[in-house]
Amino acid sequence: MQFEDLNLDKRLMKTIEHLGFQQPTEIQQSAIPVACAGKDLLASSKTGSGKTLAFLLPALQRMFRAKPFSRRDPRVVILAPTRELAKQVFGQLRQLISATPYKAALILGGENFNDQAKAFRKDPIFVVATPGRLADHLEHRHLSLDGLEMLIMDEADRMLDLGFAPQLKAINEAASHRKRQTLMFSATLDHHQVNDIAGDMLTDPKRVAIGYAN
Ligand code: ADP
Ligand code: MG
Repeated sequence: MQFEDLNLDKRLMKTIEHLGFQQPTEIQQSAIPVACAGKDLLASSKTGSGKTLAFLLPALQRMFRAKPFSRRDPRVVILAPTRELAKQVFGQLRQLISATPYKAALILGGENFNDQAKAFRKDPIFVVATPGRLADHLEHRHLSLDGLEMLIMDEADRMLDLGFAPQLKAINEAASHRKRQTLMFSATLDHHQVNDIAGDMLTDPKRVAIGYAN
């Protein structure tokens, strides 16, 4: 399969070309069509297999196809377990949106809370965050997730191992309207907490596991 076969927006194809990627990885081939069809997804594949683009490309695609934005709330929230991982995702997102008018905010634990509150007032469409800090801002009503269209969890197993289940549930509840799409990525799907939280947060998800015995 080639990137051309994924029916991505011309602008995304240009960026992919610019990044020098020849072919979608296996997880990208499986996840992108499901996510671009608007379905919920529970996916796993090993480290280094290209999971970041497997969720960023569908998120961008959805924004390109969206109606002009009426609400000022974030439309896509991406959660990652650690500051470092969130920064990596944000770096890739920045490359992908560099030629678009879309704004993105990076909201990490350990940084200035008031500066972050100001960042929300710039109405970013994308928010990349660690779960604890995003939950704190929701509690302080620094942002609303009423207009959220996509909730993406990267390394969900690790977020749960770090004890973020209550924060994930709070974020889920703050964004619990019907049209939201949820994508959950995990190194393993064989993790009882991942299955529990997926049951709470995903609607009839497609399960994709690459590179395991089954
Ligand atoms: P994972 O999250 O699965 O550990 P990443 O998304 O961090 O993997 O990707 C690992 C590396 O592979 C990154 O350097 C990324 O730029 C690169 N990469 C992603 N997709 C492709 C592709 N289709 N072709 C070549 N390299 C890719
Ligand atoms: Mg990753």
